Amino acid sequence: MNLRETMLAEQQLKALFEQAKGYAFEYAEAIADRAVFPTPQAIADLEQFVEAMPGHPGDASSILQQLHDYGSPASVAQTGGRYFGFVNGGIIPVTLATKWLTDFWDQNTALQLMSPITSKLEEVCQRWLQQLLGLPDTTVAGFVSGTSSAIFCGLAAARLRIYGNHGWDFNQQGHNGAPPIRIIAGRHTHGAVIKAIALLGFGLDNIEWVEGDDQGRIDQNQMPELDATCIVILQAGNVNSGAFDPFDQICDNANAAGAWVHIDGAFGLWAGGTERLKHLTQGMEKAHSWSLDGHKTLNTPYDSGILLCRDKEALVTALQASGAYLTSNYGEQRDGMMYTPEMSRRARAIELWAALKYLGKSGVDELVYGLHQRAVQFADELKQANFTVHNDVVFNQVIVSPSDNDGTTMAVLEQIQSSGECWVGSSVWQGNKVIRISVCSWMTSPEDISRSVRAFIHARELICGK
Ligand SMILES: *Cc1c(COP(=O)(O)O)cnc(C)c1O
Repeated sequence: MNLRETMLAEQQLKALFEQAKGYAFEYAEAIADRAVFPTPQAIADLEQFVEAMPGHPGDASSILQQLHDYGSPASVAQTGGRYFGFVNGGIIPVTLATKWLTDFWDQNTALQLMSPITSKLEEVCQRWLQQLLGLPDTTVAGFVSGTSSAIFCGLAAARLRIYGNHGWDFNQQGHNGAPPIRIIAGRHTHGAVIKAIALLGFGLDNIEWVEGDDQGRIDQNQMPELDATCIVILQAGNVNSGAFDPFDQICDNANAAGAWVHIDGAFGLWAGGTERLKHLTQGMEKAHSWSLDGHKTLNTPYDSGILLCRDKEALVTALQASGAYLTSNYGEQRDGMMYTPEMSRRARAIELWAALKYLGKSGVDELVYGLHQRAVQFADELKQANFTVHNDVVFNQVIVSPSDNDGTTMAVLEQIQSSGECWVGSSVWQGNKVIRISVCSWMTSPEDISRSVRAFIHARELICGK
């Protein structure tokens, strides 16, 4: 058989897909009990993959088998209930099943003409997000790979609009000789924001930093005077403490001055979609653009960044470098590429649609508030065990240490990580090493929290004695 005939047989016989399904279910069944981080042996075994590029087509079934035998054990058990590293997220079953189904479609989502179904579901997601978060009805959405990309798009729209307000056509004239733009950001702003500022050519030295309070939120009394050359970047959810910048007053001042406000809320903006936590995001609807991730708090599969922007013209002109959207070449329907830097993209909005359709408003509330409740439980149980909790647990983040000695904190952290019982990361808070806990998965149960706290206590005993 030639290559085409072989692939045709593989497609028609379906055994390959049954094999993958079998492995996937085996993986999912083992997830609750295996070590959260791969064992040293599993990592050493990755040498299996180091080989010369094959000269000829291989056997599809053994490729899958190799991946399952050596790849699965070297994955991080992030979809179980005891992964609290970084600010990642779990995966809602219906979104995973949706991904399987739509992987068979393999849609390109650049144009409505390429995928009417994806175009329609992007449109639905855009409207639902606008309604859920209470944003202006002019808000449009771009579905990108993650928040890093979403921030980049939001700030590109801001740049185009602010320059335009000063009679400067950025797409044509660029940075050379342009009037100055002021960038205002909080001292604790996320690294992805800083990267976008550099990539867009604003220059990190030109950032006017605003100091934070003891929770890391912008202290609004320290905000500089704003004017019509300002782009203000605020954050919903400090990556350590989970704290939210005070949006209300800052947005009012920015709007009065003719400035642009971007809110980065990769995980925190979802608080604005809940009944019980939306006080945290008060006033956020007065900003101009927002970035967030489906793949964090909402627990969709990865590759689900969202840029929301109330100024469609600025966004589309910035990303397309043309006004062609005014009379789309392909009709009245939504062409997804107008709102993203890319043309070809996978149909990532379908999984987001499935999550929103499945959860509904009360489900979003239950999911997001549940993460908060588990974080509060984690903090309470750690305090009872004499760990020091350093933040007000307003959302899903807890920062904690067993001692004020950095060396001890790191030793206890490494002990927790190597126990396999749970996985937490490290950070620096007010000059000291801390353990950072992020509760991000719907899977996490109260028992997962208690079991993890026991791992903390046991690790401290091993390092410090009883
Ligand atoms: C995770 C995160 C980002 C980056 O998002 P990606 O999806 O990883 O690109 C940006 N800002 C904040 C506040 C985040 O938590």
